[in-house]
Amino acid sequence: MIPALMPTYNRADLAFERGEGAWLYATDGRRFLDFGSGISTASLGHGHQQLADAIAEQAHKVMHVSNLYRIPQAERLAQRLVDASFADSVFFCNSGAEANEGMVKMIRRAAYETGHAERYRVITFEGAFHGRTLAMLAATGNEKYLKGFGPVVDGFDQVPFNNLNAVRNAIGPQTAGIVVEALQGEGGIREGSVDFLRGLRAACDEFGLLLGMDEVQCGMGRTGKLFGFEWAGIEPDVAATAKGLGGGFPIGAILAREQVAKHLTAGTHGTTFGGNPLACTAANVVLDVLLAPGFLAEVTRKGRVLAAALDKLVADFPAVFESARGTGLIQGLKCVLPAGEVQAAFVAEGLLSVTAGENVVRLVPPLVLTDADLAEAAEMMRRGAARCLPSASKVAAK
Ligand SMILES: *Cc1c(COP(=O)(O)O)cnc(C)c1O
Repeated sequence: MIPALMPTYNRADLAFERGEGAWLYATDGRRFLDFGSGISTASLGHGHQQLADAIAEQAHKVMHVSNLYRIPQAERLAQRLVDASFADSVFFCNSGAEANEGMVKMIRRAAYETGHAERYRVITFEGAFHGRTLAMLAATGNEKYLKGFGPVVDGFDQVPFNNLNAVRNAIGPQTAGIVVEALQGEGGIREGSVDFLRGLRAACDEFGLLLGMDEVQCGMGRTGKLFGFEWAGIEPDVAATAKGLGGGFPIGAILAREQVAKHLTAGTHGTTFGGNPLACTAANVVLDVLLAPGFLAEVTRKGRVLAAALDKLVADFPAVFESARGTGLIQGLKCVLPAGEVQAAFVAEGLLSVTAGENVVRLVPPLVLTDADLAEAAEMMRRGAARCLPSASKVAAK
C-alpha cells in the first residue's frame, strides 16, 4: 500500500527531533554533524536563538496578510538586498523554482515591452538545475526529470557549461536572455570559470540580452560572497535566490535592475504567500548574520580549511576519491566509488552530506559552523573513507 506521505523520495531511515548549530539529534539518540544543511538551506544551522525568537515573536503578532497591503518586513528586506547588491527592486516568492520561473518571466516581459515580442527564448546549460515546475524542468533539461510529463515547455536552448563558443552559436533572433548558475550545485559543484561568466556578461551586452543568475543554491553567502557571481566581478540584470535566504524558512526572491523590474507593473505577476511578514522576518535575521562585518570573510576562511582537509583526503584515499572542488562552504568530493556508497559511509561515521551530479558528494554545512566542527568533520570523512577501502579494493581487483 502506498504510504500516506507520497513516496517521491528515497528517504534515509533517520528522523531528527532537534538541532543545535551544525548538529542534528535523531529520534534514536544518535547525533550527526550536518554537512547537508537541508540541501544548502539551513544557513544559520539549527536551533538558532535569534532566528527562532524572531519567528516566534512575529507568529504571535501577525503571520500573513497578503500582498494587498504594505508589509514593512518585506520593504525592509527588499531595501537591504538592494543596498547589498546590483539590484534596484526585489520580488518575494516561496521557493527556488518559483524565483527562477519569475526571473524568466521578467526576462521575457522586458524583451516584449522593449519592442522585441519575438524574443522569448532563454539559453541554459547542461548540468543545470532550476527547479521542478514545468517551465523550470524545461530550463533544467534533464531527461530523467522531464520523462512522462508531457510536451516540454518551449523556449529554452541548452548548451554545454563553461563553453562560450556554444553560447554565442546558440544566440539567435528569438533569444531574450541567458540563465546560469555561477556554481552548479545539483550538477556536481561545477564552477563557472571567471572567463566564462565574464564572457556571458559581454555576450549579453553585445547582443542586447538579459543575464539572469540562478543564485538559489550558491547565493546568500554560500561561496563566501553574498552572491556567487561576485567572484567573477560581474553583475547580472536579474537574479533568483531562495534556499539559504530564510535559514530554513521557505522564501525566495527575484532581484532585478530597474530596467527589468519596471516592466512587471501591478497585476503582471503575483503570489499569495510570497514575502509575508513571517517569512521576511526570518530572512531579515539571516541578513543580520550574513551582513555583519567579517561574517562572509569567515565563510571564506572556513572554506579554505575545508578545502585543505578535502585535498588531503583525496591524496590519502585515491581509491575512494578522484578530486575535490568548490568554493567557500559549497564543496564536493568527486568519487571513484559510487557517491551514494561514500555518503552512506559518512553517515555511519556521523556525518550528513548530499550527493550531486557527476558522482559527487556535496558538502554544504551551515555557514555558522565552528572550527571544531570542521576538524570533527575531517576526522569523520577519514574514517568514512577507510570504511570504503574494502569496497575500493574490490573495484580495483575487477
Ligand atoms: C534547489 C535549486 C532550485 C529549486 O529550488 P526549490 O526551492 O526546490 O524550488 C533551483 N535552482 C537551483 C540552483 C537550486 O539549487
